[in-house]
Amino acid sequence: MTRSSPTEVTGYRNDGVGTAVALVNAVTTDGDASPGALGALLASYNFKVGEPVTDDEAEALRHWARLLRPVFAEADEEGAIDLLNAVMGEVPMHPHISDHGLGPHLHYGPPGAGLVDRVRANTAVGLAFVICEHGAGRLGVCQDTGCERVYADISRGPRKRYCSKTCLNRATVAAFRARQAVTPT
Ligand SMILES: [Zn+2]
Ligand SMILES: [Zn+2]
Repeated sequence: MTRSSPTEVTGYRNDGVGTAVALVNAVTTDGDASPGALGALLASYNFKVGEPVTDDEAEALRHWARLLRPVFAEADEEGAIDLLNAVMGEVPMHPHISDHGLGPHLHYGPPGAGLVDRVRANTAVGLAFVICEHGAGRLGVCQDTGCERVYADISRGPRKRYCSKTCLNRATVAAFRARQAVTPT
C-alpha cells in the first residue's frame, strides 16, 4: 500500500480552498458547470465522485457556488465572516478521521455523506481556515478589468489582487499604457 506524504495529507484542507475557488469560478464566471464538468473538477481535487454527477447534484453544487461567491467578494472582514458562518450553518458537519488510500485525514461531513454534502463541508471549512489563519482579505475577486474570477491567496508574501499571473501582467501593462497616454509629449 502506498501512503501519501504528510504534506499531501495536511494539504487536504487546502484542497477545500482550491475546490471552493475552482467551483465558484466554474459556476459564476466563464467555466463549464455541466454535471460532467463538475464531476471532473471534483475528481481532480481528490473527491471520490463514483457515479456520474446527476442534474440535481449539479444544481445543488451550482447553488452552493453562488452562496460562496459573496464570501470572496465581501471586502469587510466581519461581513465575510458573517456570510461564511451563515452558509456553513446549513451544512451537516460531523468531523471524523478517514483513510481511503490517502492516509488518515480529517473529513468534516458525516460518514457516508453524499458528494454535495462532502463538497459543502470541505469547501466551507477550507475557507474558514483561510479567514482564521490569513484574514478575509486573502479571499477576493480578481481586480483585472473584465475578469470576474475569485482567488484565495495563502502565500506568505504581500496579498495578491489578481486571480493569476496572466491577469496581473495584463493589468500592469494596461496601467503602464494608461500612464503613457496621459504623459504630455
Ligand atoms: Zn478523504
Ligand atoms: Zn483574473
